[in-house]
Amino acid sequence: MVDSERYKSFLERLIRVTHVEPYNRESYVELIKEMCEEFRLAKGVTHFYQTPMMESRGIGESYCDFDNGKADKILLNIRILTKTKAIIIGTLYAETDECDRDEEEIAQLDTLFRIILGFVSRRRLLDMIEKFGFYDLDGYRNFRAFARYLDIINMENKLGGKIAFHIDLRNFTMVNREIGRANGDIALRNYYEMLGESIGDEGIIVRLGGDKFVGVLDRSVKRKVFEIFSGYPIAYDETGDKKIVITASAGVYMLPDPFMMKSYGDIMDKIMIAGETAKRQASGGVIIYDDKMKVAKAQIKQVQNEFRAALVNEEFAVYYQPKVDIESRKLAGAEALCRWIKGKEIVPPLNFIPILEMNTDICDLDFYMLEHVCRDIRRWIDEGREVVRVSVNFSRKHLVDIDLLNKIINVVDKYNVPHEYIEIELTETTTDVTFKDLKRVVCGLQEQGIWTAVDDFGVGYSSLNLISEIPWNVLKVDKSFVPKNNEDQDDISNKMFKHVIMLAQDIGLECVIEGVESVDQLDVLRQNGCNIVQGYFFDRPLPLTDYEERLDRQYYPESGD
Ligand code: C2E
Ligand code: MG
Ligand code: MG
Repeated sequence: MVDSERYKSFLERLIRVTHVEPYNRESYVELIKEMCEEFRLAKGVTHFYQTPMMESRGIGESYCDFDNGKADKILLNIRILTKTKAIIIGTLYAETDECDRDEEEIAQLDTLFRIILGFVSRRRLLDMIEKFGFYDLDGYRNFRAFARYLDIINMENKLGGKIAFHIDLRNFTMVNREIGRANGDIALRNYYEMLGESIGDEGIIVRLGGDKFVGVLDRSVKRKVFEIFSGYPIAYDETGDKKIVITASAGVYMLPDPFMMKSYGDIMDKIMIAGETAKRQASGGVIIYDDKMKVAKAQIKQVQNEFRAALVNEEFAVYYQPKVDIESRKLAGAEALCRWIKGKEIVPPLNFIPILEMNTDICDLDFYMLEHVCRDIRRWIDEGREVVRVSVNFSRKHLVDIDLLNKIINVVDKYNVPHEYIEIELTETTTDVTFKDLKRVVCGLQEQGIWTAVDDFGVGYSSLNLISEIPWNVLKVDKSFVPKNNEDQDDISNKMFKHVIMLAQDIGLECVIEGVESVDQLDVLRQNGCNIVQGYFFDRPLPLTDYEERLDRQYYPESGD
């Protein structure tokens, strides 16, 4: 038996090390070792099982805190079933050749060991809390870890001068598609780790979810980290041989110095606003927060708040912009363009369409427009007017809607409008629209006799694949693609324009040139064999009654030149 004074001293020290003082691994290990030697133990082992089922299958974790390496036999075995049904088993071993111990000594060991087991399981619980509370299911640090970090350095008065960021990886859906989801996961992890390493101990990066991250970094590592944000080759296979460039849209807030955070919003709001601005930019990269962005944010909120009621109140009006055949000068069609009529003010689409495109509000507006167009066409037919095809803009946000085709047909058929009078304009200005979805929608409309147009060709990512592999009816060429004049025949953009028009006409596409404002432009187009134009030269987008007047007239007199 261990001397009772000595036992009491162990007991006190053990309680102090495990329950009173801040955890210190060294003094804990030292005490355990000393106790095991005093009690002449050979080994001490603990096992953890999350459930009895896992215990019966032997799936768990085990720790050995002491082992003198000698042959041993079981001396004491304690099994604790916790309230959560986790099981903790502790086993103490004596050396094989030692004789039996008295009951009192076993009782002493039992008490000390239960304290140790209680402590170890509590530490394990803390590890689990850390894991579940501060990491997400994929093992990335989560927002709570970020909040805790901010709290700590704020308290230490060290936030001033740091740089907070929000990043959203660009086109990550496309990356996944290109290299496969499993490799996409590896790339994501490697990107996060690369940033984590570059940020080092003076900052943090955590995942908000998906491909979105937030963090804080020190100015000393700004260059390196911003370089990674702007596009960096990242390995995506186990060996690290294959790499893909990953770019982020980064919203950054340079914290003033000194800086005292009162709520997380002081930082989060700013990096989110800057992040949204970064995301809207075509090329990604880093956008630094500026107070002006707050105003933009307020505008966004206002449009989003007012939209629903405006839709119900029919505040959106359809303006019709004629398309004209330049040879015959006959009205060849029209495009329906939306205007928000707010009292006396006529709000142009650029002030609200991009905002409605941030969520799926735009889809409701597009259907509203289609519905109004169909209603107008129906009335014109009933009134015996000669009608021409009207094109309606549909945002690419619709493309993932598997039911889109039916919804369009339902509206058109509801007004009994012959399908050939309706044309749907779709753009492909970003790479996140899948070719497959676009093709499915266009082919479906085609089968139903509804026309389709690729809008804004020549802007952004438009490619020749887009027109050769998808059976469009119409190619709408953006004004920026049209040569200013016909003087420099060797000019590369002139040549490109000529060849794209030739190719499009070759494969049977109708070409509509947008934004024609002058006679000179008209001449260039004529010489390039284009026949249909839409632009201020003939007419601006017109309110209903003005357009009806054009519809009745059907022709544009020569004097218009
Ligand atoms: P878009 O579909 O490319 O429409 C053509 C735009 O060019 C119109 O701008 C039109 O007014 C403008 N435009 C036409 N001729 C000329 C010209 O000679 N010179 C110049 N400088 N501009 C000309 P608008 O009406 O401001 O519409 C802008 C964009 O907003 C549209 O571009 C379209 O992408 C979008 N949009 C408009 N209405 C709707 C809608 O109902 N739904 C959706 N999803 N988008 C819409
Ligand atoms: Mg359009
Ligand atoms: Mg256009």
